[in-house]
Amino acid sequence: MSQFHFDLQHRDAATGARRGVFVTPHGPVQTPGFMPVGTQGTVKGVTIDQVAATGAHMILGNTYHLALRPGHETVRRLGGLHAMCGWEGPILTDSGGFQVFSLGEINKVTEHAATFRSHIDGRIVELTPEHSIEIQEALGSDVAMVLDHVIALPADPGAVTDAMERSIRWAKRCLEYANSDRQAKFAIVQGGLDETLRAQCARELTSMDFDGYAVGGLSVGEEPSEMYRVTAATTEHLPADHPRYLMGVGRPIDLLENVARGIDLFDCVMPTRNGRNSIAFTDAGPVKLRNAVHREDRRPVEQGCPCIACRHSRGYIRHLFNAGEMLGPILLSIHNLTYYQRLMAETRSAIEADRFEEFRREKIAGWDSAKTPGKAT
Ligand SMILES: [Zn+2]
Repeated sequence: MSQFHFDLQHRDAATGARRGVFVTPHGPVQTPGFMPVGTQGTVKGVTIDQVAATGAHMILGNTYHLALRPGHETVRRLGGLHAMCGWEGPILTDSGGFQVFSLGEINKVTEHAATFRSHIDGRIVELTPEHSIEIQEALGSDVAMVLDHVIALPADPGAVTDAMERSIRWAKRCLEYANSDRQAKFAIVQGGLDETLRAQCARELTSMDFDGYAVGGLSVGEEPSEMYRVTAATTEHLPADHPRYLMGVGRPIDLLENVARGIDLFDCVMPTRNGRNSIAFTDAGPVKLRNAVHREDRRPVEQGCPCIACRHSRGYIRHLFNAGEMLGPILLSIHNLTYYQRLMAETRSAIEADRFEEFRREKIAGWDSAKTPGKAT
């Protein structure tokens, strides 16, 4: 336990935004912070040194994917996830709950376990809360997430309540089974879009001895305003002296809106996935580099960005995408990861200076300034 702690350094005067440091055995994580997603033990298309150069402090690995391939015992024999992928900073692993829900061909949940068919070789796999922790201990991540019961929304209230209550019982089983003091355990608050269920789940989980708390089951198709409402209703019931992690979210605006509602940590595949699709995040909104308008554009993707992509012109990057060269997706993945890390660094500075509200307004005004609102130019 003593190897992990969360220093809450400053609270923004006008919003719920917090500036903190989450200390782990592999180093500190400055919060609010964004974790690049390394699904298969790699942040897609980007070397580990390049990930570090974007300013990332902590990365995420996927338990479901790594347990199926190469197998968690293979990862253990390769020295654990840190040694295998060469990342020396902290790593958080998810529990597999979300992937079972979203990728598993069959998906049967009983009180004992989630059962699914592997999307790789079709075999039937059973994931219990205990097995999820056992896998994450073999991977050797700094933070393990409890296995939760994720359901599709909208769902009838009875199903949402059942999944929430099962998630609490599973969280308890994870905590009782866990056997490593070098691995923090984070619980996951479920409860769909129902504020009463979220509050109940948060209260029951915070009565147990977790190192941090996540808000799960959001960014599954609900309106952003619904997401923000549920985040606020959840963080209200979480202890101030523990880190809070909003899973799988999201767009730059979602990061700022949820920081304002008390979230400290984020992860999302958007920077790399959009980068591979020729979409770059900038302060003036998303830019689609494949578009013909960039054909002879000598400007970088974003003026003033220190990343290696922005040493090149938009015209060159457009050419790489049109020619099917792998360097195009690599460069824009690096630019987008850098953009997210710069956004979080600016956010931290704004909170320290008690000007987060003003900073958020300026950023959103910039993103809205794109010629076609909401559409990449
Ligand atoms: Zn850049």
